[in-house]
Amino acid sequence: MYDIDTVRQDFPILAREVYGRPLVYLDNAATTQKPREVVEAMVQEYYEVNANVHRGVHYLSQQATDLHEEARRTVARFIHAASEAEVVFTRGTTESLNLVADAYSRAFLHEGDEVLISVMEHHSNIVPWQLARERMGLVIKVIPMTDEGEMDLQAYEQLFTPRTKLVCVAHVSNVLGTVNPVRKMADIAHEHGAHILVDGAQSVPHFSVDVQEIGCDFLTFSGHKVYGPTGIGVLYGREALLERMPPYQGGGEMIARVSFEHTTYERLPFKFEAGTPDYVGTHALAVALDYVSRLGMDHIHHHEQALTQYAMEQMAAIPGMHLYGTAPGKDAVVAFNVGDIHPLDLGTLLDRLGIAIRTGHHCAQPLMQRCGVEGMARASFALYTTRAEVDALVQGIDRVRKMF
Ligand code: PLP
Repeated sequence: MYDIDTVRQDFPILAREVYGRPLVYLDNAATTQKPREVVEAMVQEYYEVNANVHRGVHYLSQQATDLHEEARRTVARFIHAASEAEVVFTRGTTESLNLVADAYSRAFLHEGDEVLISVMEHHSNIVPWQLARERMGLVIKVIPMTDEGEMDLQAYEQLFTPRTKLVCVAHVSNVLGTVNPVRKMADIAHEHGAHILVDGAQSVPHFSVDVQEIGCDFLTFSGHKVYGPTGIGVLYGREALLERMPPYQGGGEMIARVSFEHTTYERLPFKFEAGTPDYVGTHALAVALDYVSRLGMDHIHHHEQALTQYAMEQMAAIPGMHLYGTAPGKDAVVAFNVGDIHPLDLGTLLDRLGIAIRTGHHCAQPLMQRCGVEGMARASFALYTTRAEVDALVQGIDRVRKMF
């Protein structure tokens, strides 16, 4: 069974204090803490294996290459990709999204073609499309949401025209916690001859994501949000699409042959991986994915769902509380404001109690506008978050509230 006390021992940072109080870390949507084995895997690789991958004939280089390519197989298994050629390593979700916005647009889009994104997207899934729009005259259309924070599927379907080529949506909103019906959205996109990209930054850490089951054409996620290191991420893409997309960056690793007249590119996925990859990061990411797989994604999901529900109930009872995002099954994120306390004040005072939350626009300014606020406070949970920590948050908010 899922023993939270044992699990917490895997994360040394959780035992530390801030301002002489036990740390209550509730900023997991921004980044998660790392289990000991992930950090140790990195230290061990630097101490015992380190050598550049792919290019060397020597022992260490081959060992590092084996770890790096084994990591790709681990990722492919974790998200149920049909083949490891569909797994491109990037620096994170943001780079994965920029890669698609650049290379997919060059391969498949023309002036006047339409890309659908939703009102609840992170800036990382908005700005790359605006850059592509400036470059080639794309049209960006925005899928609205209901007041509960659910994707408006009726409006979604009505946005399609013969020019709609791609849909790009968050699997889980990093503010509202809404789990979007991406399978259904993929079916609708495909019926209209469009492709769909799912931003899995906030889903992959929380429940099992199967790219074949959800029927997406692309999936993006970040290692650091799924208990892995910073600086490593993944772009999954269907092989037939990646094959037709041009390289995103040029340089070592991604070439087959170079002359001054002409260059040919490596096979997938290397065509998209210019330069020395973060091979220590890929290995450590695989260790993190093995770690959560061992705990069981279903156990993690069950734990976090119960915790989210508990937090929503407890927080709703605080006078003056406004909760954003009340969709059924919402996951691991609670965004809120209390009375007219500025979220920055709330966050700063909670910090003094040892409670780390995030405040501001959460890189989703259009969503803030939709909700009619400048900013929100946000508590976000992870596999190691306890009910006692939610209680500490609720008591902390109540204490701060009474100061105003
Ligand atoms: N998309 C969503 C939904 C996110 O929550 C985040 C990070 O908060 C990102 C994209 C960007 O991720 P990264 O900063 O790791 O590239």
